[in-house]
Amino acid sequence: GSESDQLRIFFFPLPAPGHMIPMIDEARLFAKRGVDVTIIITQGNASFIQKIIDREFEAGHKIRTHILQFPSAQVGLPDGIENYNTITSMNMGVPLFQGLGLLQKPIEQLLHEIRPDCIVSDMFYPWTLDVANKLGIPRLGFRGMSHISMCAEHCIKIHEPHKSAESNVVLLPGLPHKIKMLISQLPDWSITTNDFTPLMDAVVDSEQRSYGMLMNSFHELENDYEQYFKTSMGLKAWSVGPVSLWVNRDFTHKAERHKIACEYGEEHEIIDWLDSKQDNSVLYVGFGSLTMFPATQLKEIAHGLEASGHPFIWVIRKKETDEYKQVFPKGFEERMRGSKRGFIIKGWAPQMVILDHPATGGFLTHCGWNSILEGINAGLPMITWPLFAEQFFNEKLVTDVVRVGVSLGLKEWRQWGYEGTEVVKRQEVEKAVRLLMGDGEEAAEMRKRVSELKDAANKAVEIGGSSQTNLMDLINELKALKIRN
Ligand code: UDP
Repeated sequence: GSESDQLRIFFFPLPAPGHMIPMIDEARLFAKRGVDVTIIITQGNASFIQKIIDREFEAGHKIRTHILQFPSAQVGLPDGIENYNTITSMNMGVPLFQGLGLLQKPIEQLLHEIRPDCIVSDMFYPWTLDVANKLGIPRLGFRGMSHISMCAEHCIKIHEPHKSAESNVVLLPGLPHKIKMLISQLPDWSITTNDFTPLMDAVVDSEQRSYGMLMNSFHELENDYEQYFKTSMGLKAWSVGPVSLWVNRDFTHKAERHKIACEYGEEHEIIDWLDSKQDNSVLYVGFGSLTMFPATQLKEIAHGLEASGHPFIWVIRKKETDEYKQVFPKGFEERMRGSKRGFIIKGWAPQMVILDHPATGGFLTHCGWNSILEGINAGLPMITWPLFAEQFFNEKLVTDVVRVGVSLGLKEWRQWGYEGTEVVKRQEVEKAVRLLMGDGEEAAEMRKRVSELKDAANKAVEIGGSSQTNLMDLINELKALKIRN
């Protein structure tokens, strides 16, 4: 195309893996379709993605990072702590967020200099709407969340079903598929007013006034909620996911694909271990990038996994192993290593690579949206263990709507990955693992349904598929807008 129809888009992710990874994937998709892409990122997060960006650039795509200095000293954070995954206590969340707010000035300056044609902003920077408005360019909001969770939040806000409920059970009125939840499972920002309320209000307000929302989902997975989104919430949205599936499909050579996926983590002997296992025999246990369990819970998980008799990979955060003197029951690690029945990863796992491996047959997940999509992409039935954020809504999609998972029955939403007192007992873990990994009918049906969803996801990102069509429509719309302006 000529210079005049060259689209230039800036992406500004939140430095938390669950927000950042899908936005980088999205940026790569735009770049592969000829858009000139800049990712705004702080120094301490740039190294995390630089290799993959360099490789895309070498492949001829117009993609680069614009690196900003994080104002550590100004907000009193140690150098290098610039990501929600690397903060070592919950108290660091506030200064981290303040520091990100201080980037407003430099970003405004940058945007005025370059004047891109669009900005894709994480939800937690509502102020990017003002910047976009000043420049007269469209802002697209990005949450990296499911439609169902946003619809549920909207529904709770409008109808306040918890206020008239006679028990802990509420039906979310008007929401497709008659979603029933416990009041205790609802995020506090949806039912109470607290410190977080002004920010969430600003987020929702900025989304309503934005050009639209970029969604990491696909039509075939959430079509009823997509509909609700558009009609009841009045938001314009483009489902262009699952982005992790899409960007990595282009790498047909398996080893190359592994390398790309591992760019987000380290390479592990894990592949060799998996290669030695039978197809669909291994359970992957992972709670995302932010969860931190108390030692008592870790112990219950260990006992439950061991008692189940099934092979497993279990990811424990480094923080957890640093904090507790004894994480595991006595001799647990040695037994698991000796029998090759359990592989424990302390730190960051190459999750996508593990999920995609033929030996992996099930996923015990905290219901982070990326994890759920990655589980679907890999065609894996799930055990759901939601904890915080919007994870309880995602669980409902998995267990009640598309029915590809079995719930552990968690009842209590918690403020953050660290908090909460609800403990799942070893017997419950064991029972769920046996059900999911065993050869019963219920598990077989879940496996069948999730493999159909996997096929649908693959179709969605092919030429003519729903997500591919949506992305092309969006790019064309932004081009038309650019010419008009
Ligand atoms: N992830 C990973 N290795 C880990 C932990 C997480 O690769 O050890 C990736 C995972 O594949 C997913 C993201 O980090 O893409 C986590 O996002 P999700 O929405 O599942 O959960 P969150 O971390 O936001 O709670």
